[in-house]
Amino acid sequence: MQRIDLRSDTVTLPSEAMRAAMASAPVGDDQYGEDPTVRALQERIAGLLGKEAATFVPSGTMANQIGLKLLTRPGDDVVVGDEAHVVWHESGAAAANSGVQFTVVGSGGLFTAADLRAAYKPPGHIIFPPTTLVAVENTHNRGGGVVFPQEDVGAICAAARELGIASYLDGARLFNTAVTTGRSLAELAAPFDVVSVALSKGLGCPVGSLIAGRADDMVRAVRARRMFGGAMRQSGILAAAGLYALEHNIARLAEDHANARLLAERLADTRVQIDLATVQSNIVIFRVPEPLPDAATVVRRAQEKGVMVSAFAARTVRAVTHLNVDATQCRHAAEVLARAVSSD
Ligand SMILES: *Cc1c(COP(=O)(O)O)cnc(C)c1O
Repeated sequence: MQRIDLRSDTVTLPSEAMRAAMASAPVGDDQYGEDPTVRALQERIAGLLGKEAATFVPSGTMANQIGLKLLTRPGDDVVVGDEAHVVWHESGAAAANSGVQFTVVGSGGLFTAADLRAAYKPPGHIIFPPTTLVAVENTHNRGGGVVFPQEDVGAICAAARELGIASYLDGARLFNTAVTTGRSLAELAAPFDVVSVALSKGLGCPVGSLIAGRADDMVRAVRARRMFGGAMRQSGILAAAGLYALEHNIARLAEDHANARLLAERLADTRVQIDLATVQSNIVIFRVPEPLPDAATVVRRAQEKGVMVSAFAARTVRAVTHLNVDATQCRHAAEVLARAVSSD
């Protein structure tokens, strides 16, 4: 039985060509600034995002944690969208590392400038924690891979500047946003002070994220990376995968999006609850209402047929498409899931 793994786009394996690029990469000690491949990747990403500089880090979580560290002080309040990665998926790191609290606004991961203004707490108040940062996630993972509307992004960041607070973009899947919208990475990143992107999701690299922003912020980011234990040595081996992926794996994300679409449309023919309007990239999230089996049962039944998906909540299931699954496999997975969600 073939195994079709749709648990995450992080499960991808490096291709032979990517491994070859990694094996032949020139490297040096990055702590001395001497790894030419890391430097090339950082310059390339900074250029693509239209920022002065970028810093290579081991994970998207570390990128987010460095962003929070740079842009807040302990006791500050950070405004984020519903179901944000920094709130749900980082093991409480924001509280432990930066001592911040979150105010969650909007719904389905999205929010507006009006939501930010309503949640904003000014500095100097004797009771309120000062809001010093707003963070946007694009595409939004737990929101089902939705694209954050760029008009709202512009308005939120303009409001942030007016309020005198910083803005951060968790762009772990910003390449997917770029492919869905046809907008450049630079355009998507422009409104923000600091931006992160991941190589280990849809781009298919084994390891790595980058954080980008002003040159002086990146000097501080390099120190924070060291403090968090993420400073690396001959990391050009990993950066080479990133450079390879930037050349070969961005445009093909459109295939992942088409595969997510066909999976979602098949599921929409069943009794699950799925909002096809939210299926805008490579993530499909659906609800299995009573009397259908719960998420754990659906996951188990699908796995028995070789299809792996995630139980995201008691009655919520997530499937993610990526470069190691093709349209035929996704069509097969859709049939397996359609059977797994039936009540008998
Ligand atoms: C995956 C992801 C991250 C980073 O995750 P790591 O597993 O630490 O690389 C950050 N933000 C979002 C929205 C993600 O989906």
